[in-house]
Amino acid sequence: MTLNKSIREQVRHRSNYACEYCGITETDTGGLLTIDHFRPKSKGGTDNIDNLIYCCNRCNSYKHNYYPEDENSPKIWNPREESFSQHFFLLDNGSLKSLTPVGKTTIQLLRLNRPSLISYRLQQAAKKEEQELLKRYQSLVNLYHQANQELGAIIKNQQDLLEQQQQILRFLLEEFED
Ligand SMILES: [Zn+2]
Repeated sequence: MTLNKSIREQVRHRSNYACEYCGITETDTGGLLTIDHFRPKSKGGTDNIDNLIYCCNRCNSYKHNYYPEDENSPKIWNPREESFSQHFFLLDNGSLKSLTPVGKTTIQLLRLNRPSLISYRLQQAAKKEEQELLKRYQSLVNLYHQANQELGAIIKNQQDLLEQQQQILRFLLEEFED
């Protein structure tokens, strides 16, 4: 039985429209992603929403119908149950380092260090850096405007003082001339 539309939409929305394994978004791929049964139906999995994962075509085809057959089979990361940071660490060069055996198996099975994903992560990091620079630039511009306003107020004060001094001088001169 295929999944109904409302369930699909819930899974999509819950994932924030991104592959829950590799993080690539609908916007990045230019289309809808697929829905993966974490425990495949052929291996006893159900259509329960907790067993459904929003997933890009690549990750889905690499994962295929993998599921640990028994206690000794290597397990893979279930993004619905465990956080990313529990099993992976993102290196500056854009590749993922596994922190656990589960992380290692997942990177291997889903090819999470495929070259296109590495360049995607590097691009994302560069974008983030750019945004931070822009934010810093914006706050500098704000500070500059503020300083300019303060300077304007100081100049105005000085002009007032000068005017007062001139008035006093004029007054004294008038007194002197009399
Ligand atoms: Zn993916």
